Amino acid sequence: MIDIHDYIVVGSGASGGLLASDLHRLGADVLLIEAGKAYDKKTFPNNEMRGSAALYWGGGFEFDSEAKTAYLRSRCLGGTTIVNQALLDRFDEDVFNDWKNRTGISWMEQSELDKSYEAVENRLKLKTFEDKDMNNNARLFKMACEKLGYDWKYLRRGQDDCALERGNDCIACLNGCHRDSKQSTLVTSIQKAMQDGMKAQTETEVLSVEHHADHCDVHVLTAGKKAVLKCRKLIMAAGSFGTTQVLLRSGFDKKLTALGKGFCQHPQFMFFGVFDEIVDGYKGAFQTLASGKHPFRKNGYKLEVVYAPPISAGMLLRSYGAEFQKQMKRYRYMSSIEVAVRDEPDGGRLRINRKGRLIVEKYLTAQDKSRKAAGAETLKKIFTAQGAKEILESPFFFGLHLMGGCAIGSSGANSVVNPEFQVHDMPNIYIADSSIFPSAPGINPSLSVMAFSHRLLTQLSNA
Ligand SMILES: Cc1cc2nc3c(=O)[nH]c(=O)nc-3n(C[C@H](O)[C@H](O)[C@H](O)COP(=O)(O)OP(=O)(O)OC[C@H]3O[C@@H](n4cnc5c(N)ncnc54)[C@H](O)[C@@H]3O)c2cc1C
Repeated sequence: MIDIHDYIVVGSGASGGLLASDLHRLGADVLLIEAGKAYDKKTFPNNEMRGSAALYWGGGFEFDSEAKTAYLRSRCLGGTTIVNQALLDRFDEDVFNDWKNRTGISWMEQSELDKSYEAVENRLKLKTFEDKDMNNNARLFKMACEKLGYDWKYLRRGQDDCALERGNDCIACLNGCHRDSKQSTLVTSIQKAMQDGMKAQTETEVLSVEHHADHCDVHVLTAGKKAVLKCRKLIMAAGSFGTTQVLLRSGFDKKLTALGKGFCQHPQFMFFGVFDEIVDGYKGAFQTLASGKHPFRKNGYKLEVVYAPPISAGMLLRSYGAEFQKQMKRYRYMSSIEVAVRDEPDGGRLRINRKGRLIVEKYLTAQDKSRKAAGAETLKKIFTAQGAKEILESPFFFGLHLMGGCAIGSSGANSVVNPEFQVHDMPNIYIADSSIFPSAPGINPSLSVMAFSHRLLTQLSNA
């Protein structure tokens, strides 16, 4: 007899991890499919090189069609919530006003999403950083902002006990958290659901899907073997790149002309200040502060105190031979801040080639460039106020917040997913992951991915 699941959920990150676990808890027969492997706190790789190879698509980085931008997304059980920094913010009125205009969706309002934000936050352990959590990099940033009169704020993170007082460095959890402190969907949802009997098939890539009147067929590849799985309802939660790629490989672009359009990523540009004294910007909680609202939000960029682990720092600084050695000897003597730009959706498009491989086309629009230039100008003032001897700018930009490709909207002419999270004219396929973003919010996206997924969950459980 053919097994027809109530739900197949493709992808186990911020959206899929939450939806699969909660639908299982509500009594549905759910199969969670994930392309990557399952790790846990005991088995996460313990250095940057092994972590990149094991946990990320492309063995660490993927690139745009012109190899100017590096993208990071995770390929393992728990998705990108395993490697992210779990900085969790709600969207503001500005995002909802923009999205309501773009989508024509009446429920696209902060007050409508508040219940979902609350429900998601209630299951997470959250910590807003304080003065005592700052490392030297953060102290330098705060000192310079206060000197220059710039607005700054503490960040809020999903974490339980990071044991910072015992010398733990959170930069290591870019390879997965060895303490189950970081609030990934693995920790908050998936592990418990699997103990309670939820089925999960890892190391299985979904190649394409078919929509039928009463079910969906899901074509998968596991250990080199192809198979077809069946479900009554399919939830695509493979992220902006993964979900868009599967829909393109399924030929849906013939009917959905908006498929693949509007890719945005909050392009991030890293800057380093070099000092005579040791800064050790990678120590402890390495991301505790960011620029505040005024005037940064209005100007379309934000600044975040951040640091890169050594291999990534070496790549970002791009130098060779003796120059490279000189740079890396100064690794402990640098402060580091990034500019993240709220980019325009017109500059990005996801396509596939004839073999079904994803092609990312991304350029910076004139507005993106001027926002970046304004951020860089502000940063230079901050590094000077810090007393940096030299300022280094990475020639690359990179993308961690991958958004769009299957935009939500009320019209099939310019969107892929309808206000009920169903693919237009394919009522058995749902999407609530980061691919549905109609534009860049300029705010950390993952809490809102979870909130939209929670809204879909409520809708499905009331159906
Ligand atoms: C280093 C880093 C730091 C970040 N820090 C933050 C932060 O502090 N705050 C924040 O809000 N956001 C952060 N982000 C971004 C955030 O994690 C993502 O926006 C969020 O996880 C997206 O959720 P998602 O469910 O759309 O996709 P993901 O969480 O990426 O999950 C998608 C899953 O689908 C799987 N998949 C893809 N294709 C297929 C396929 N064909 N078949 C089967 N499975 C497939 C993937 O392997 C993956 O597990 C960070 C990202 C990175 C890389």
